[in-house]
Amino acid sequence: MGATLISTPGHRLTDRVPPLLLPGDPDLRRFHRIIVHTSAGKDSTALLEVVVTLAHYAGVLDRVVVAHADLGVMDWKGTSALAALHAEAYQLRFEQRRRKGGNLLEAVQERGKWPGPTTRWCTSGFKRDTLAPLITQLADEARAAGQVKEGAAQILNVMGMRAQESTSRARRPRLALDRRASSGRRHVWTWLPLLHFPVEAVWEVVHATGLPYHWVYDHGLSRASCSLCPLAAKADLTRAILMRPQHAQAHAVVEADIGHRFRADLSIEDLIEQVSRGDIDERHPRPTRGGRQGAHASRTISKYLYN
Ligand code: SF4
Repeated sequence: MGATLISTPGHRLTDRVPPLLLPGDPDLRRFHRIIVHTSAGKDSTALLEVVVTLAHYAGVLDRVVVAHADLGVMDWKGTSALAALHAEAYQLRFEQRRRKGGNLLEAVQERGKWPGPTTRWCTSGFKRDTLAPLITQLADEARAAGQVKEGAAQILNVMGMRAQESTSRARRPRLALDRRASSGRRHVWTWLPLLHFPVEAVWEVVHATGLPYHWVYDHGLSRASCSLCPLAAKADLTRAILMRPQHAQAHAVVEADIGHRFRADLSIEDLIEQVSRGDIDERHPRPTRGGRQGAHASRTISKYLYN
């Protein structure tokens, strides 16, 4: 299964897809490695297509590496396999890492606290820190291969965050030096090329690739993240409880054990109770799924990955 390049930089696929490059975006040729971080969700799927397109036209496709932080049982089934399949479709190197030690739910139990909008220790502990050694490894590889002629190795971390998702994300710069990850031997930059993308444009790109997208969207979920994320919309949580009742119950046990609500406005135990009473908010809007091609691909890959 191969993906297709959708556009040329600065041009639109359709009116629903904004230009891929904006003023101030990086020149990809400056970087020794370009790391595309994927969760296998819709934004990551579109992101990979955009980066592949831009790297292709810049002549640096061989520097692109796809990185995935595997969250194990916290993720939806098949997430890691889909991330790997997307990388394979573009014939890109795929690197997956999983944090050593317990899973995220066990970490909640240890800390006695759930993550929240201003205490997002899960993202740093289970994604950023887990992939940090890979960044060092790739910088060292570039140096060992003689590709760093002078100074520090230049590493570009590319992520699929969008301004539409939250006000804190809207405030993030498109391109910034990551001082924490940088050193005298490597300069690590973070680039958010989808920051200006509305969700409709994301789906437009996803469907244009012809690649399978994550199966949870066909179940009405708006995000393919941890199955039960305290930062998720209530409608997504409701559906997740229906889809993974035992996993939800494990969260309720931890909630009761640590005496800290799943989130400030919501107890997971109460929500499970609501769901079991059939008191469910079904007004959650379905995602924009586009044409039959995407739906067919999703069915195909569901069979391939999950049966
Ligand atoms: S999906 Fe939610 S719980 Fe999982 S790492 Fe991200 S913010 Fe944390």
